[in-house]
Amino acid sequence: MKNTGILRPIVVFFILSSIVFVACAILLYSNYAVLENKKSISVDKYREHLKEQLTEITESGEKKYPSAEEVEAYLLTTRGYQMIMDEHREGSAFLAGLGGVFLLLLGGGCFFLYRSVRQQHLLNVQQQNFLQTISHEMKTPIGSIMSSLSNIQNYDLERQMETKMVGNAMTSARRLDGLVHKILTAAKLDNNSMTYVIEETDLSMLTNEVVRRFKARIDGSRLVSSNVEEDLLVQGDSSALISIVSNLLDNAHKYSDKGSQIQLRLLESKKNKIRLEISDNGVGIPDEHKDEIFKRFYRVGAEETRSTKGSGLGLFIVKKLVEMHKGSIKVEDNHPQGSTFIVEMPGIKFVPAYEGEFSDELA
Ligand code: ADP
Repeated sequence: MKNTGILRPIVVFFILSSIVFVACAILLYSNYAVLENKKSISVDKYREHLKEQLTEITESGEKKYPSAEEVEAYLLTTRGYQMIMDEHREGSAFLAGLGGVFLLLLGGGCFFLYRSVRQQHLLNVQQQNFLQTISHEMKTPIGSIMSSLSNIQNYDLERQMETKMVGNAMTSARRLDGLVHKILTAAKLDNNSMTYVIEETDLSMLTNEVVRRFKARIDGSRLVSSNVEEDLLVQGDSSALISIVSNLLDNAHKYSDKGSQIQLRLLESKKNKIRLEISDNGVGIPDEHKDEIFKRFYRVGAEETRSTKGSGLGLFIVKKLVEMHKGSIKVEDNHPQGSTFIVEMPGIKFVPAYEGEFSDELA
């Protein structure tokens, strides 16, 4: 994505603000110089006046002038001198205040401009990414469906070949369906029109099932290990919870190499919080992208150089769903390589059913 369009107004703004800044600095400095000048003229005049006052006339009628030190010492004690200095101080304080307010306004203006330009820029990048990704993500399966159907229509294919063609078309249609589903889910999450069935859900069982299906889907292409504590209950919507776990597993698969390891852990962490960790040894996520990837349509890197398919909607949806369960999500580096996604959400304390007999006292 080229950003020259956004760069020009920023450069123009900063040049203009620098000019305004320099002009105001000169103005303030020249006002201060005038103030200083006024002060020294007033003090000089006052000094002369005091010198006159302190001059004595001797008996012989001669004038006896006071020494410079005497005049200076007397000057410092007079009210007139204090008044000149007070006036000068007030003038300087006013100029300093004016300068401060001006700096504050300019700084605030720069900050707000920078923020809105940055937001606009991110929005542009996301929209650009979205258009490129979606058009690519849609074009490929549509092309594949069309070519499979036209082969079936135009050639007298053997039954086996025909089944293969239908299979290809179905796979592409499913891909399209998944994409449309993500776009609709994101839109519903955006305008809060998503409906949920919130009930007590066994997250341990649900996670084990998602892992089982995930393993079957990736067909041994990654080494998947899972460590799931039993009986971890949450108050939640099971399809949303499935979506959270499977999206994170799908990403761990998508952004790592064949044969690498994917680890899932589900455990009770501090104070009845349930913690889900999904780690991979894949490409990892640079620090500056760690918060951004949860934004709509955000994908790391440039579309032209990216080899993985995607819409940039998965993590946006996951974050919204986690928040809907009053939880949080973050990503950290996995060591020595890859990423670890960490989800935390409140659990429901599990109280195992009492299997023995009640004592007489309790009964
Ligand atoms: P998609 O995968 O469809 O692009 P997501 O919202 O799921 O969209 O992810 C957003 C971006 O975050 C991805 O494009 C990718 O750059 C980055 N990302 C997500 N998961 C991982 C991961 N496990 N490892 C490395 N990068 C990841």
